[in-house]
Amino acid sequence: MTAANGPGDVAACKAALAHLDIDDDPATVRQKSRDFFWYSPVLKARLDGVCADFVVAPRTEAEVIEELAAAHRHGVPVTPRGAGTGNYGQAMPLSGGMVVHLKHLDGVHGIGPGWVRAGAGIGLAALDRVARAGGQELRMHPSTHATATLGGFIAGGSGGVGSVRWGGLRATGNILSLRVVTCEAAPRVVVLEGDNIQKANHAYGVTGIITEVAMPLAPAYRWVDVIVGFDDVAEATRYGMAMAREDAILLKEMGTIAAPVPQAYFRRHARFMPHGRSIAVAMVAEHSLAAFLTATARWTGAEVLFQAGRDTGEALPPAYELTWNHTTLRALRVDPSITYLQTAYEGAGETDASRLAALAAMAARFGDEVPIHVEIVRFDGRLQLAGLPLVRYRDEARLDEIVAVHEAEGCPIFNPHRYTLEEGGMKAPDRVQLAFKREVDPKGLLNPGKMIAWDDPDYDFGANRFYTYPGLAD
Ligand code: FAD
Repeated sequence: MTAANGPGDVAACKAALAHLDIDDDPATVRQKSRDFFWYSPVLKARLDGVCADFVVAPRTEAEVIEELAAAHRHGVPVTPRGAGTGNYGQAMPLSGGMVVHLKHLDGVHGIGPGWVRAGAGIGLAALDRVARAGGQELRMHPSTHATATLGGFIAGGSGGVGSVRWGGLRATGNILSLRVVTCEAAPRVVVLEGDNIQKANHAYGVTGIITEVAMPLAPAYRWVDVIVGFDDVAEATRYGMAMAREDAILLKEMGTIAAPVPQAYFRRHARFMPHGRSIAVAMVAEHSLAAFLTATARWTGAEVLFQAGRDTGEALPPAYELTWNHTTLRALRVDPSITYLQTAYEGAGETDASRLAALAAMAARFGDEVPIHVEIVRFDGRLQLAGLPLVRYRDEARLDEIVAVHEAEGCPIFNPHRYTLEEGGMKAPDRVQLAFKREVDPKGLLNPGKMIAWDDPDYDFGANRFYTYPGLAD
């Protein structure tokens, strides 16, 4: 099975779609061919020149079908795009062709108690505004809530603010259904429900373009940002896990970040962060705030450094924009040499103690070269430490060394310096997604280069080398 190695007959494809909303202005096409890949110096060096041939923005699902039929007929690669906030070069058209920008599919199609159905291109903030008008909200969202789209979150994201309560997008029940358009001679609309949702969940769009999503909703609360200081990040994380386990306290976010990151990079909050304090960042439901503060007061060494409402003399960004990949973004804005990793602090034993020991071991081993940042999330009924440590980047060889040490110490790395599904994930093909791709994208035109198992079924995942997609444009 081979992938499309070139852009096909782009001129014919474009001519066939000339009556649609097409943009071939070189500046916009380049802008819509980029995402947040540049977080990684490794990807920046390799993907900077990547560019599509044109952008088309469907106004309806019928237009998506027309576009994918034309792509199939003319052998043109297709890269779906939401807001382009993904990392890992997920939304970058490695072999050119057309970018399908979902911005017009932004309607809310239905809403009721506990659920909403909306177009894939709707912004998460806009969707939450509609839900909140009826006293509901999304269970979870990435820290890019202000800009990211619903379809991009499903196809490229994994979880975020809310995952401390609800787990990740992979958890059964966190996505209710997807409508997906296939890339065939006569494209079909496939409705995915139950386990079938995983065929397109976190698939970077290689198994079809999502046009509509049904999501569960939770009751909406007023969330209060609270930042608590500690002498070290391991203690902050121990506290964070305990607070996440409190049966009667409702949290939407709990992340921990090692000093000196808050002091050096959280410019607007820095005045609340005393020198040397590592922090726990929480979003607490207003009705739980008193209980949260009571439980926090029991922790020796815990000090409430910031409480929204109590301390804000000016409008500050929401605390969740200090967490998840916003931690990295804030550091990068001050020091462009910084990058990051994604890991799970597991250790040997799958217990709280083994997780905290693994985290402490990495903190001791790398110190300020790899400042710890952890998101506490629910996963398969347990709490897990999802690490997004910063890395003071020296070179690729040192980055690989840091990755190798983490993996040897029971901290698997989900490598954000690779653009394929497999290398960023479990280093093994997803057989379900691969089988579905064979059905729905027989020519391999959807976001080519992102699924190694499609390009090279014999690829040796044990070899631990950088996979270079043969069709990656020079
Ligand atoms: P895009 O970047 O446009 O697309 C993402 C992927 O999905 C691409 O592969 C694209 O081809 C594909 N795609 C887009 N739309 C469709 C569609 N309709 N059908 C099929 N495929 C499609 N991620 C998290 O999970 N949690 C976080 O907390 C988080 N925080 C972040 C913070 C920062 C500062 C940054 C830069 C990134 C963060 N991310 C996070 C990554 C990203 O912002 C989210 O995953 C976001 O939801 C992506 O949405 P988007 O609309 O920008 O998607």
